[in-house]
Amino acid sequence: MSSTQHLNRFWEWGRKILCVGRNYKEHCLELKNPLPKEPLIFMKPPTSYLKQGKKIIIPNGCSELHHEVELGIVIGTKGKKIPQSSAMDHVAGYVLALDLTARDWQSKAKAKGWPWVMAKGFDGSCPIGDFIPKETIKDPHQLDIWLKINGSEKQKGNTSDMIFSIPHLISFISENITLECGDLILTGTPEGVGPVEKDDVITCGLGDGLTSLKFEVDRE
Ligand code: MG
Repeated sequence: MSSTQHLNRFWEWGRKILCVGRNYKEHCLELKNPLPKEPLIFMKPPTSYLKQGKKIIIPNGCSELHHEVELGIVIGTKGKKIPQSSAMDHVAGYVLALDLTARDWQSKAKAKGWPWVMAKGFDGSCPIGDFIPKETIKDPHQLDIWLKINGSEKQKGNTSDMIFSIPHLISFISENITLECGDLILTGTPEGVGPVEKDDVITCGLGDGLTSLKFEVDRE
């Protein structure tokens, strides 16, 4: 199997999903969070991957499931303490993803100073599209990214508005966590996050028709 075919299914064997919170200024402000001075990193387990064709399921006990559309970076080459100058050499490609968030659970966790694992890492909390090889995207920091619910636009941003660039994130994370082939880094969401309900249809896209996703929502 060639490495490209292998990476096409990174979500089946990749071991880590590292996520960046508060990486777009307007999104920080809409949730009344301060702007970060360094990247805020959290994780989802690999069991949170959800591929198209399956429904997004609002978990039992969650009263406010939020959509967050994000550009994902798929790592192709293992590395630790990667300098920003060579960070892009470790990227195999990209994926369009949702960082689904049980906002009510997250608010409770934040109030108690607890981790966000249950709010961000439940099964199916990371819907993704198809693997996009690196060569397909000339500049990952110049991509429109959008999300609609039932055809109505909710999120529309551009990856040029990230506070911390992709090389910055790769360098920061790999300072203390080895990045491995098949790992995914979610780079944060632009403003416009909000709740989804049972029977909603979520569509989202990246670039100028580069890729798009569609998911129906149900309740557990
Ligand atoms: Mg997010």
